[in-house]
Amino acid sequence: MQPQTSSTIGRQVPVAVLTLVVLTMVVAAATVLGFVAWSSANIDQRSLERQTQTVSRVIQSSRNEMEQRISALAVWDETLINTKLAFNANWIQRNLSYRINDSFGYNAMILVDASNKGVFAIVDNLAVLPSEVDAATVPFAQLLESLRTIRPLQADIGTPQIPAVITDFLVVDGRPAIVSATTIVSDTGALKQLPGSEYAMLLTRYLDSPMAAEISRNYLIDGGNFTMTSSSSPDQSVFPILNNSGRFITFFQWNLDRPGQMVLRQTIPTLAIAFIAIACLIVLLLNQLRRYADALKAGQQYSHYQATHDDLTGLPNRSSFEAELTRQVEARKTTKTGVTLLMLDLDRFKQVNDTLGHQAGDELICAVADRIRAVLGKAPIIARLGGDEYGILMGQDGLMLDVHDTSQRIIDAIGQPFSLRHYKAHVGASIGIVSVSALEEDVVPTELMRKADIALYEAKAAGRNRAMVYEEHMSEMLQLQHTIEGELREALQRDDQLSVSFQPLVSQATRRVVGAEALARWSHPKFGQISPGRFIPVAENTGLIEALGEFVLRRACELGATVPGRTIAVNISPTQLRNPQFSHLVFDILHRTGMRPNDLELEITESILLDDEHVSSQNLRTFRTAGIQIALDDFGTGYSSLSYLKRYPVDRIKIDRSFVSQLADGHDSVAITKAIVTLAHAMDLEVTAEGVETEDQASILGKMGCNILQGFLFSSGVPAARIVEILSDPANAMVSRSMRLRKAMSR
Ligand code: C2E
Ligand code: MG
Ligand code: MG
Repeated sequence: MQPQTSSTIGRQVPVAVLTLVVLTMVVAAATVLGFVAWSSANIDQRSLERQTQTVSRVIQSSRNEMEQRISALAVWDETLINTKLAFNANWIQRNLSYRINDSFGYNAMILVDASNKGVFAIVDNLAVLPSEVDAATVPFAQLLESLRTIRPLQADIGTPQIPAVITDFLVVDGRPAIVSATTIVSDTGALKQLPGSEYAMLLTRYLDSPMAAEISRNYLIDGGNFTMTSSSSPDQSVFPILNNSGRFITFFQWNLDRPGQMVLRQTIPTLAIAFIAIACLIVLLLNQLRRYADALKAGQQYSHYQATHDDLTGLPNRSSFEAELTRQVEARKTTKTGVTLLMLDLDRFKQVNDTLGHQAGDELICAVADRIRAVLGKAPIIARLGGDEYGILMGQDGLMLDVHDTSQRIIDAIGQPFSLRHYKAHVGASIGIVSVSALEEDVVPTELMRKADIALYEAKAAGRNRAMVYEEHMSEMLQLQHTIEGELREALQRDDQLSVSFQPLVSQATRRVVGAEALARWSHPKFGQISPGRFIPVAENTGLIEALGEFVLRRACELGATVPGRTIAVNISPTQLRNPQFSHLVFDILHRTGMRPNDLELEITESILLDDEHVSSQNLRTFRTAGIQIALDDFGTGYSSLSYLKRYPVDRIKIDRSFVSQLADGHDSVAITKAIVTLAHAMDLEVTAEGVETEDQASILGKMGCNILQGFLFSSGVPAARIVEILSDPANAMVSRSMRLRKAMSR
C-alpha cells in the first residue's frame, strides 16, 4: 500500500509516446529525403536526356555545316575552272585553303580527279607535296567510290547541277574525323563536264580537342572532349559517334550538368537544420509531455493515496481495509491460510479529546497506531477505520490462543500511560475478534466486519479493556438490542414489565442495613429478565432514559418516604442531569411522595465530572444545597482523577466491583483500594464498596475503614416490599450467607 516512487512514473509514461514520435519522425524524414532524392534523380535524368539530345544535335549540325560548306566551295564555276579546267594552285591556296582552315577550322582539303587520284591536298594550311597527295587520299577511297556511284542531278540544260554530298565519320591516321566529299560542278550551269569526269573535293575535320572546345563553348557544354574510352564517373556522360554503317568511331564525353544533385546539395543542409529544429521541438514537447504525465500520475497516486489512507496516521482507511479483507478472504484457498480480523476501539478516548483537546486526541490516535505496530510487527495490516477505531488483519496461525495472547498484548500496550506533548493520558482498548479458516465456504467480508463489530460491542459491554471472540449467540443478543428500543418504549407505557429492585447497603461497622440502591428491572414476557447493562445504554442513546429514570426515581422515593432515616440511592444518567428541568422533577417527586431530601442519594458516574456543562454542575449544587447526597458510582473505572472530586461536590464514592473482586492478600488492588479509601476520607468523603461477594473482601474492606458494603455477600436486589421489611426492622442485621450458615450450625 506504499505510494509508487516518482522515478518509476517518469520512465513509464513516454516509452509508448517516444516510440510513436521517433517512428513518426523517422517516417517523415525518410519520406522527405526520399522525395528530395527521387526528384533530384528525376531532374538529373531529364537533364541528362536533354544534354544527350543537345550533343546529338551538335554532332548532326557539324555534319550539316560541313555539307553546306563543301557544297558552297565545290559547286562553283571558279573552283571548277581553277581545279579541273585550268589548275591553279595559287588560286586554290588563296581562295580555298584560307577559308577551309582559318574560317571553318577544318584540318584538310583534298582534291581528286575523276579516277579518285589525288590532285592536290592542303593539310593544316599547308600544301601537301605532290608525291604524298595520293597517300593522303587512301583513307577516303571507299567514301569516294560511294560518291562516284551517285551521279549529280541535272534537271535541264543550262541549270546548275546539284551534286551528291556524302558525309561520314572515319578514323583517319588513327584519329577520328568527320569527313565530307562532293563532286566539283558549275554553279551556273555554264561549264559543262562529261558525266563521270568530275573532280571531287574532300574536307576533313578531326574530332579532337579544339573541336570539342569549340562545341563546349558554342553550346555551353562543360568539359566536352572526344575519347575512345567511356568514363565510369557518374559526373560524366558520353555520346557514341557511329559512322554511316553503324561502326563506332569515338565518344563525345562531357561533364554532366546535374541540377538535381545541386538542388540536393543545397537542400540537404536546410533540411538537416529543419530536422534538427523539429527534433529539438519534439524533445521539448516530449519533456513537457513527460512532466504533464508525471504530474498527472503523481496527482492520481496522491488522490488514490488520499482515498485509501487516513490523513492523520497514514494508515490504510476503512475502504482500503475492506478491499484488503476481501482480497485476503478470496485468496484463502491459494494461500491456505485463514484470516483473522480484529476490531479495536479505544476506551475513554472521548474524555481525552474533550478534556485535553483535539490536538492531544490526534496525537493519541497516532501514538496508539505506533503501539499496535510495535506489538504486531510489520506483517499484519493495521488500518484506522474512523474515530478511535482500528482494524487489524492477521493471517490465521491456527491457534485462537495466539490471537488472544496478541490481543492481550495490544491491550496491555495501550493501557500504559501515553506521554503526549503537553499531557499524560490513560486510555484502554477493547477488541472484537473474528476468524475464518482457509476451508470455510461462502464467507462474506462485510459479514466478518459486522461480526468483529459485534464482538467488540460485547467486549465493551462486558466491562471494556478486554478482547472477545465472536460467537453466534452475540448476534442474537444484538438483534435483541435492536428490538429493545421498541420494546422498552412499550414497557414504559405499561406497568407490568418494569420494576425496581432494591439492593441493601450495609454498614461495615454494624453490619446493619442502612439503606438500599434502587436498580431498574425489566421482565420481558418473551425474553425474560433483561439486564440493565443491555437496556440502560439503549435508553441513554434513545432519550428513553428520562422516562425510565423518572419511573425508578418515583418508585424509590415512594419507598424512601416509608422508611425515613434510611438512605435510598438512585442511579442518575448524564442525560438526566444535563436537563435543566431535572432538579424541578426531583423536588416535585420528593414533595409528592413525602420523602426527605436527606434520605435520597443520587449516584452519578465519573463522566459527568468531566462534563463541563454548566447545567449538570448547577443541578448537582442545587441537590446538595437541598441536603440530597451525591455518590460517585463505579469509581476507578473512568477517569479516576481525585482532583475532580475537589471541583465537584460529592459526598461519597463507590469503589467499583472490579477492584473489590480482586481484593486478596498481597494483590496490587489492596494497595490501590486502600489509597482510595484513605484519600476519600482525607477529603471528607464516605466510601462504599460495591460487589462484595466474600467474607475476605468484607473483612479487608473493613480493615481499610470502608463505610458501606454492598454486594451479593449480603443480598442481591430485592423487591420493594422486602426491603421495606428489612429497613423497618429496628434490629435488622444483614449477615452474610456464611455467617447465617455458621449460626444455623451452632444452634
Ligand atoms: P451500579 O449502579 O454500579 O449497580 C450495581 C450493579 O452491581 C447492579 O447491577 C448490581 O446487581 C450489581 N451487583 C451488586 N452487588 C454485586 C456483587 O456482589 N457481584 C456482582 N457481580 N454484581 C453485583 P445491575 O442491576 O445489573 O445494574 C447495572 C448497572 O446499570 C448499574 O450499575 C447502573 O449503572 C445501571 N442502572 C441500573 N438501574 C439504573 C437506573 O434506574 N438508572 C440508571 N441510570 N442506571 C441504572
Ligand atoms: Mg449504582
Ligand atoms: Mg456501581
